[in-house]
Amino acid sequence: MKYLDEYRDRRIARALAAEIAQRTTKPWVLMEICGGQTHTIMRYGIDEMLPASLEIVHGPGCPVCVTPLETIDKAIDLALRPEVILVSYGDMLRVPGSRSDLMRAKAQGADVRIAYSPTEAVKIARANPARKVVFLAIGFETTAPANAMAAWQARRAELTNFSLLVSHVLVPPAIRALMVSEKNRVQAFIAPGHVCTVMGCSEYESLVRDFHVPIVVGGFEPVDLLEAVLMLVKQLEAGEAKLENQYARSVSYQGNLPAQQIMQDVFEVADQKWRGIGVIPQSGLRLREEYAAFDANRVFNLGELTVDEPAECISAQVLQGLKKPTDCPVFGMTCTPENPLGAPMVSTEGACAAYYHYRRHAVAG
Ligand code: SF4
Repeated sequence: MKYLDEYRDRRIARALAAEIAQRTTKPWVLMEICGGQTHTIMRYGIDEMLPASLEIVHGPGCPVCVTPLETIDKAIDLALRPEVILVSYGDMLRVPGSRSDLMRAKAQGADVRIAYSPTEAVKIARANPARKVVFLAIGFETTAPANAMAAWQARRAELTNFSLLVSHVLVPPAIRALMVSEKNRVQAFIAPGHVCTVMGCSEYESLVRDFHVPIVVGGFEPVDLLEAVLMLVKQLEAGEAKLENQYARSVSYQGNLPAQQIMQDVFEVADQKWRGIGVIPQSGLRLREEYAAFDANRVFNLGELTVDEPAECISAQVLQGLKKPTDCPVFGMTCTPENPLGAPMVSTEGACAAYYHYRRHAVAG
């Protein structure tokens, strides 16, 4: 299979679904990690093609969803300062902080600008030497190399008006945290193909070994996901636990070594808070000491904040695969994409938004 159309081919998808049904003899719980995969599953009804005994739950792989409330509050605080230009990816603007969001801050007069890459923020800093430019650098291993490159460029150019508000998270420690949780129900994982394009597969070996859990690196098209599910079902039914790579057209075992190098040069691994979930040891990235001058937390002396999630929002349980968005009592009622209470209803990768767009009529009906 070489071309995208083949990965959306109904005939191939139905054949895969039939083989999955034929091979599934016991109940199994599978988790896809990435929010992009969640949206494909919902959009194409992949979960509805599977046998009832095969449950798919959705993981914490939506970068917008797991960015801590405190980081959003800090970004809003910075944006409201007259000397600051706050630059962000577009889907962060409507993510609710504890009292407001960046869109409302922009409406109040804050200089909030949308960028498609962090190097655009570096350009804005160069063009506005009298202002302080802060880039809201969030995401998984996928966005970390570009954010690292922005810090590297700013340091090389000796910019004194550019910094990053960093909130980076890493997938393998999150899987480990899920597996050690007493509440865990997940028996096999579809690992995120985009992350593994950067990081390769090797980091997942120890998870397979330590927890005897099957992991298949999966892509993002319907046939990709059905193939990944089939590979996991074969392992589960055989009592095996192996690391396999369904997304071999993009992912190599070692990953993108230059991208990993720039990440290592600029960032170091640190404990990280995940929105709704709490602190997961060694699950994030922070700027190295050599890059302290580009760390917005230090430049603006932001300190530590602790704020509570809205009581109604069960996103922590959704992100850990313990509940589905439709289990949330305010799903589609007081929480909608137009008026989100939690981040998973905002993000293009959020599970609640996926259910809202593709399943709410079924729920209502
Ligand atoms: S539907 Fe809204 S309130 Fe409920 S878990 Fe999702 S984001 Fe949170």
